[in-house]
Amino acid sequence: RLWTGNEIRQRFLDHFQEQGHQALPSSGLVPKADDRSLLFTNAGMVQFKDQFLRPQSAPFKRVTTVQKCLRAGGKHNDLDNVGFTPRHHTFFEMLGNFSFGGYDKLRAIQMAWAFLTEVLHLPKARLRVSVLTTDTESYAIWRHQVGVPSDRIDQLGEADNFWSMGHGEGPCGPCTEIFWDTGAADPEARWLEIWNLVFMEYHRDAAGTLTQLPTLCVDTGMGLERLTSVLQDVPSNFETDLFRGLLDAVAALPADPSRAGVTGNRMIAPNQRIIADHLRASGFLLAEGVVPGNAGRGYVLRRIIRRAVRAGQQLGIEGPFLTQLYPALVASLGKAYPELGDRTAEVVDQLGGEEDLFRTTLSKGLQQLERTFRTVPTTGQTPVVDAATAFYLYDTHGFPVDLVDLIARERGWTVDLAGFDQLREVARQRSQDTWQGRSPAATTKGAVTGSHCQTWQDRGFTSTFTGYHLS
Ligand code: ATP
Ligand code: MG
Ligand code: MG
Ligand code: MG
Repeated sequence: RLWTGNEIRQRFLDHFQEQGHQALPSSGLVPKADDRSLLFTNAGMVQFKDQFLRPQSAPFKRVTTVQKCLRAGGKHNDLDNVGFTPRHHTFFEMLGNFSFGGYDKLRAIQMAWAFLTEVLHLPKARLRVSVLTTDTESYAIWRHQVGVPSDRIDQLGEADNFWSMGHGEGPCGPCTEIFWDTGAADPEARWLEIWNLVFMEYHRDAAGTLTQLPTLCVDTGMGLERLTSVLQDVPSNFETDLFRGLLDAVAALPADPSRAGVTGNRMIAPNQRIIADHLRASGFLLAEGVVPGNAGRGYVLRRIIRRAVRAGQQLGIEGPFLTQLYPALVASLGKAYPELGDRTAEVVDQLGGEEDLFRTTLSKGLQQLERTFRTVPTTGQTPVVDAATAFYLYDTHGFPVDLVDLIARERGWTVDLAGFDQLREVARQRSQDTWQGRSPAATTKGAVTGSHCQTWQDRGFTSTFTGYHLS
């Protein structure tokens, strides 16, 4: 019998507890209030950031967690990958073991290898590793202590094997990664990255200067969905049991293909996957109290929900559907994350409200875009959706510009994003005089109702974050 995703999660925690690690709960997707450097928790190490810097004060030397992660914004942004790669989600669970001066590189590598090959019985011949070119210590451990053949150890540069949290400050260091041979013919798809072992050796300050940390710390992260795809022997995360119930629920929604935005079958699977993925992300965010808004975290949530609604439109799904899917999410992950079930009423209320808001203007906006696509582009150049159109869609129909960009790319068009930013900035400045208890882009007709805006402000989600960038 194959292990379920829920069992694999537990097995990981049990194993590392047996290895002397203290199991701790996941922290929130919204990092601690004082952490302004990060929009969302994007790795297991985030809640331990300070402990890497001051390991002597860490309450436990060895810790294990399963961390809720979101990569939809900032340096680690996988929003555009979702639906199109077998391995990326916006929301995913990261299995991790951590050491704050409790063990060295040798022990960290040995433990990871033992978990994969002795506990999970993955065949060694289907594993491959990478190290940072200058990290000769890790290379020697893999080669001589673990016995990985040299043609299975890649020595790569900092772009691949130096880990840092995001822009600017924080603990960072070289990493070594473990890949699984999926057997895929395409060399790009063949090696699936499953586990990243980071050796926190430095602190990078705001100016970019590295200083050595007092003690070597270890931070590892392995995607539960990827590991589950390996153990269940399926070609993508979306085919694991972690997604099955949700995808079945999506496929069971009443759909009218004649109203669909896609012809043929090519885009059905990606759109179904986008919906399942985005429902997980928005469900978890809403359960934590983040609500859709026009800035910062609320805006990321809004973009995710609106992309899901548009994916449903692409499939010809009739009527509002996101709230109908929520029970499938609670069924799949509600046991591991009780907040999903506990907050059902609030989540469903917000999800339904946001879907309704966008649905009222979605078709009109799409028609406008279609008109643009019918205009004849200058020959020999990639056709461009002009800034005025992109801004009109944003301002009048509530289309986040990344959604316009997504639709444009499907058609082989691009969007004048720089021009869009200028227009939005002009509009923002113009509305500043009259800014009074309204969100920064309150000119977005229909984008924020009184009640939604009120909740947003009540919870203290002010627009302090200004670093949102598309890429
Ligand atoms: P990739 O190269 O596949 O995008 P990454 O190098 O960005 O992955 P890390 O930052 O090293 O990923 O994160 C540690 C682990 O978390 C990865 O090895 C992978 O198992 C998992 N992971 C990372 N990003 C995602 C994602 N978007 N969806 C699901 N799992 C992920
Ligand atoms: Mg990545
Ligand atoms: Mg990688
Ligand atoms: Mg990696």
